[in-house]
Amino acid sequence: DPVYLNGDFLPLADAGISPLDRGFLYGDGVYEVIPVYSRRAFRIDEHLARLQATLAGIQLSNPLATDDWKAVIAKLIEAAPWDDQSIYLQVTRGADNKRDHAFPPASVPPTAFAFASPLVTTPADVRARGVAAITVPDLRWRRCDLKVISLLANVLARQQAVDQGCAEALLIRDGFMKEGAASNIFIVKDGLLIAPPKTQLMLPGITYDVILELAQQHQQPLEVREISETELRAADEVWMTSSTKEVLAITTLDGEAVGNGKPGPVGERMWQWYQDFKNTVMRKG
Ligand code: PMP
Repeated sequence: DPVYLNGDFLPLADAGISPLDRGFLYGDGVYEVIPVYSRRAFRIDEHLARLQATLAGIQLSNPLATDDWKAVIAKLIEAAPWDDQSIYLQVTRGADNKRDHAFPPASVPPTAFAFASPLVTTPADVRARGVAAITVPDLRWRRCDLKVISLLANVLARQQAVDQGCAEALLIRDGFMKEGAASNIFIVKDGLLIAPPKTQLMLPGITYDVILELAQQHQQPLEVREISETELRAADEVWMTSSTKEVLAITTLDGEAVGNGKPGPVGERMWQWYQDFKNTVMRKG
């Protein structure tokens, strides 16, 4: 299946970029991951809007108009053999002929890359049990609202989790839980759903927005406010959400059971609402 690189569709093996690409040298670029169900991209406008916001945040102009991105994505979806896919998009500040931290001249074009892969979903037995997570200090910079490719702090946090047999690392900054290494985190206490607010210290997840919309639609009591580490540990339910994980219960935190150690009722309902919502939107197209 072809990948997209700077205006062309070509086999992955033929898609080459310069070793001087600023994505490679500095992690100077942005990305998006868009889930595709039954060959339809889910929340594509929201993902492309977040891509635009991140590009603006790093002062890089978008190499493609929204409709051009949509055409690229449609072509990748069509060419791929799977019905459910994950589309990855990346834009970097391109390759100059020398290494210098400051931006290259305007004549240097950005690098734009996109490819499709099969959507990796959570097996039903894992979902039914929930997953284990750890907490770690949030060592990231202060613009976590930007979906940039410099992900070293996230990579190290997630690897710490994996080394301890866990699925996710929850990031704690100044006593508050901001999100996971690659997911947003919600908690439930006495039937109340609590979500951390969108600030510069958290990625505004596309799934996060869907969860808030579904909570409102189904009259699920909801508060959007900071979650302290103490509150996190006392929660009845903790879930992670992302485009690929959807809604996944965290049933063990730092080796301790969350609530009764099983996925809770609010999370189970939310997962079902999410499935229903996905199916409705995908049918409408
Ligand atoms: N936070 C971080 C740090 C992430 O990397 C991600 C996405 N992988 C999310 C939250 C969830 O975002 P989305 O719902 O848009 O996938």
